[in-house]
Amino acid sequence: MSAFELLQPSTLEEALEIIAAPGFAGRPVSGATAISLMRRAGVLNVDSLVSLERLRESMRGIHLASDGQAQVDGLVTLGEMENHAGLAASHPILPAVFATLANPRVRNVAMIGGYLAHGDPHMDLPPVLSALNARVLAQSVRGSREIPVDELYRGYYETSLEADELITRLVIPPQPACAHYKKVTTRARHDWPTLGIAAAFDMEDGRIVRPRIFIGAATDRPLRLVQAEAAVAGEAWTEALARRAAEAAAGEAVLVPDSHGSVEYKQALLRAHLPEVFERALKAPKPAARQA
Ligand SMILES: Cc1cc2nc3c(=O)[nH]c(=O)nc-3n(C[C@H](O)[C@H](O)[C@H](O)COP(=O)(O)OP(=O)(O)OC[C@H]3O[C@@H](n4cnc5c(N)ncnc54)[C@H](O)[C@@H]3O)c2cc1C
Repeated sequence: MSAFELLQPSTLEEALEIIAAPGFAGRPVSGATAISLMRRAGVLNVDSLVSLERLRESMRGIHLASDGQAQVDGLVTLGEMENHAGLAASHPILPAVFATLANPRVRNVAMIGGYLAHGDPHMDLPPVLSALNARVLAQSVRGSREIPVDELYRGYYETSLEADELITRLVIPPQPACAHYKKVTTRARHDWPTLGIAAAFDMEDGRIVRPRIFIGAATDRPLRLVQAEAAVAGEAWTEALARRAAEAAAGEAVLVPDSHGSVEYKQALLRAHLPEVFERALKAPKPAARQA
């Protein structure tokens, strides 16, 4: 591993100026759980790292609005999100996702900004946050902009962030009444997923409305399943509809093979597990803001 300079800005403004400086060829660091492995493996060689540690006190809030929207500062750890009772109540889909994401040691140091910027297509949260229609706030010396999570990923480890931008906040709209994520693993349950399926929707007069279905891990970025959404929208959930939705999903999903399995295997997983995601979403605990 090559030597590097560690820069430790004390304010967000200072950090943004460092990464925007002409000729800067370093990387920002949040929890370092991903970047340290990439450096050790020799796939990332940079001469400086910009630690965001000293900004943590001012960027570690979780703010909940009365309508159920959540705003999570970029330097909140995954463990802090996992253990936040208010977030678990407003977005009951999340605790189960965190429970099998990596392990407590990783969750206790990895931060949501670094996590989302990492761009590993196998990550669990991107399809979940895409189904929830979440967005991130990206800040730079040029200003700030919001990027929907379903537009954040361009491909394998590639995001739509500019080199001088930091993710400083995650905004999650109120969770729909029904939502569930299924992490399908071929080995241990806390392993990286072979396939991740997330669905979120509301029910009106016994019919599914505003469905959003995303898959991850078996694709090079979270993929929205628009044909499966069209198949279920406006319909009551039945076994026949489950079969139609599963066929639509398996037919439209462009999957990639890897050490977790072939395209055919992942298609079979999608066909088998999509109905279960809907059934569990229908029975899942309702978000606090919707219970009244
Ligand atoms: C053993 C192990 C198992 C894992 N299993 C899973 C799993 O099952 N499911 C899953 O979803 N994930 C899993 N992960 C991935 C893990 O979640 C990531 O390593 C972690 O979230 C990265 O967060 P971090 O804060 O440590 O990022 P860092 O390592 O600090 O940074 C990651 C990347 O983001 C950039 N960056 C950092 N902060 C910011 C910012 N605020 N704005 C813009 N760019 C930034 C860095 O330059 C780097 O490119 C696993 C990781 C490990 C080590």
